Amino acid sequence: MKRRPRNTPFTLGNVTVKPGESQYVELSLPGLYTHSDINMPVHIMCGKEAGPTMFVSAAIHGDEINGVEIIRRLKNSKGLRRLKGTLVTVPVVNVYGFINKSRYLPDRRDLNRFFPGSETGSMASKLAYVFLNNICHQCDYGIDLHTAAISRDNLPQIRALLDNDEIKALALAFGAPVVLNAPLREGSMRQAVSESGTKVLLYEAGEALRYDEISIRAGVNGIINVMRKIGMLTASRKRVKIAPAIAHSSKWVRAPQSGILRSTNPMGQSIDKGDVLGYVSDPFGEIEQEVLSPVSGMVIGRATLPLVHEGEAIFHIARFDELEEAETVYEEFHSHVDPEDDDIEPYGDEPVIY
Ligand SMILES: [Zn+2]
Repeated sequence: MKRRPRNTPFTLGNVTVKPGESQYVELSLPGLYTHSDINMPVHIMCGKEAGPTMFVSAAIHGDEINGVEIIRRLKNSKGLRRLKGTLVTVPVVNVYGFINKSRYLPDRRDLNRFFPGSETGSMASKLAYVFLNNICHQCDYGIDLHTAAISRDNLPQIRALLDNDEIKALALAFGAPVVLNAPLREGSMRQAVSESGTKVLLYEAGEALRYDEISIRAGVNGIINVMRKIGMLTASRKRVKIAPAIAHSSKWVRAPQSGILRSTNPMGQSIDKGDVLGYVSDPFGEIEQEVLSPVSGMVIGRATLPLVHEGEAIFHIARFDELEEAETVYEEFHSHVDPEDDDIEPYGDEPVIY
């Protein structure tokens, strides 16, 4: 029998993980002013057989915690026993923000605006530098897990630069209901890695500081789908594949006045141009304004806190060439990740209900 090619060891700092082994590694970061050390926790799973190297990261924004649970379920998934290549998981990139339940670093900077970072710069720069050089640059692929900001919710979606054919193929393979073509943002990790050749997808789903079962399930499924696509796991004939709808652009709808928002449309709702998305009124309902959609599309993000100021972004509408097709995809997706459905295998875990 022909011997399968053996994986190469993965080295991080002074730790080398050999094929067939798994290890935790702590990456040293600037300590606290309490004389306490701070480390970024990393888990490396080095498969016996050769294959790609991929990282999965969460909580670059410290309050976006859905991804932490996605990584926990992924790491404990039975399918990984036959892993080809190396899987590097980093559940909490912005350790400081995570401790403080905050999107930001203690110096109020947004880590995802400070890539590629530097060894001698600000706290954000140093953290970006450590993550980029130790993790991202050592990997062929990456999936970065995010949620909407606090008091906002996102429908599970992949954001990627679809001009790149390989990234587009991965974005579709993930199987979130919506793929949004998203340009690279200055200072983001995605922009920093695009120059080095690492292919990165950004998964956005759910709300900051909350666990959302549908977003978590769709995230775990999606990562496994991508791992199958790139040959880290064997393809499964059993699995239902969702063919995502591609949104060519999106539009934020803002509050027409300050007041209290009553949203009349759930997430995933299809909207025609001019439809009422909700109402903003004063507490007595005397001064009320309709929120009208300026475009046709699907609600892929919305404010969850009804107290809004004039100009605040309250609905995010994705625009498609074929809106009806997107509607069908969303319905199909929903029927496959429904937490009420006992037939769904949530990777050896009970669903989380809050
Ligand atoms: Zn984020």
